[in-house]
Amino acid sequence: MTELHQQLQHIYDEVAHRNPGEAEFHQAVYEVLSSLGPVVEKHSDYVDSAVIRRLCEPERQIIFRVPWIDDNGVVQLNRGFRVEFNSALGPFKGGLRFHPSVYLGIVKFLGFEQIFKNSLTGMPIGGGKGGSDFDPKGRSDGEIMRFCQSFMTELYRHLGEYTDVPAGDTGVGMREIGYMFGQYKRITNRYESGVFTGKGMTWGGSQVRTEATGYGTVFFINEILKASDDTFEGKDVVVSGSGNVAIYAIEKIHELGGTVVACSDSSGYVVDEKGIDLALLKEVKEVRRGRMSDYAELRGGGATSVEGASVWEVPCDIAIPCATQNEINGDEAAALIRNGCKVVAEGANMPCSPNAIKQFSDAGVIFAPGKAANAGGVATSALEMQQNASRDSWTFADTELRLEQIMRRIHNRCLVTADEYGQPGNYVAGANIAGFIRVADAMLALGLV
Ligand code: NDP
Repeated sequence: MTELHQQLQHIYDEVAHRNPGEAEFHQAVYEVLSSLGPVVEKHSDYVDSAVIRRLCEPERQIIFRVPWIDDNGVVQLNRGFRVEFNSALGPFKGGLRFHPSVYLGIVKFLGFEQIFKNSLTGMPIGGGKGGSDFDPKGRSDGEIMRFCQSFMTELYRHLGEYTDVPAGDTGVGMREIGYMFGQYKRITNRYESGVFTGKGMTWGGSQVRTEATGYGTVFFINEILKASDDTFEGKDVVVSGSGNVAIYAIEKIHELGGTVVACSDSSGYVVDEKGIDLALLKEVKEVRRGRMSDYAELRGGGATSVEGASVWEVPCDIAIPCATQNEINGDEAAALIRNGCKVVAEGANMPCSPNAIKQFSDAGVIFAPGKAANAGGVATSALEMQQNASRDSWTFADTELRLEQIMRRIHNRCLVTADEYGQPGNYVAGANIAGFIRVADAMLALGLV
């Protein structure tokens, strides 16, 4: 791991001590602090005013019981979380994750990342994240609805369009947002569209929100390629996952002339040399809620399904991890480098471990961190909030153009900032420093909060 500036090491030690057993949160804090050495050298006021220490402590953490009844009439029990991390730039904003692995440390790592990502978009949104250890896999529609209603029966009191605005994440798509928004409306007797993003088009949603994270990540990579006079044309790409982010990343890559030769789920991956058939993938994943092995079967001989191995063994020019945290470690990074991968961009949050990132840097592989590359999702959520506030609704083309411009601005901001702090071409440094400075300056301006 990169050595920290001495003052930042003290801050990190304090975070590790005050938040025991939260490995993912420690990792996310370390990753940001490891970029801030040159910043504290230039601006000691960030340390003197304890702005960095305060940034590492959530403004509010909510943990609650979520009881619900399954289809057999049996009472089930889950735990709900919302970490309202930082509201210096606007209302807390960040998704909800439903997955059995969710615990406080995961929610805090995601919430912490979200502060800097939201700051980088240049939009008026603070950072937060939430979720539950509920596993939606294999649950009926009725069970999902009863869980969402119970979850919202507690969470509603902490939300509001000027307070805290959740969205989807792993395990939470438009269906779940609908059930939660419905329960919020019922309890509060308010049609407050701006309290959730990721809504359906007939009830306050925005065009492009579903596609935004995947499209945005690909727009970001396109900027990287443009910087060296290159394009997606003729490139082989591997995408991990086959959920919301992965599917729309694949869609945009194919539109721009690249070929996605493999994608995955938590059971295995599929290699499809002619390129993933997007219509079939959407049918399997969005309609049937099936597995990648079902895709291979339905594709009929054109694709190979592999279980129990890593998708990162498949040779590619560009790799886009879109599944989950720490999915690319030392071995996976080594395989990508060995097979000639030139660009890695994080569609998921923190999918690459520090060891993997170091290997990419040593091997000259261009690496784009998630807080910059996947910021298109939350940026489009902010566009949804803008439309809700003005009771307006924009066209797909107009919204997509805005997303593309936002991703270009984030890309350029990363490069300009990396240059300014003596690390040309370093997207990690650029994203961390630019994201940090905007939120830190707002915190200083707002007094001791
Ligand atoms: P989804 O639930 O739609 O999809 C997640 C996908 O990843 C599924 O295909 C899932 O497979 C796969 N997956 C999960 N865990 C593993 C694992 N351990 N190994 C291999 N595959 C796995 O989630 P999203 O697409 O919404 O989110 C994916 C990532 O992107 C997350 O890190 C999220 O935080 C991040 N993100 C999402 C945004 C959004 O707008 N949705 C915005 C910014 C970031 P299976 O079905 O088998 O579990």
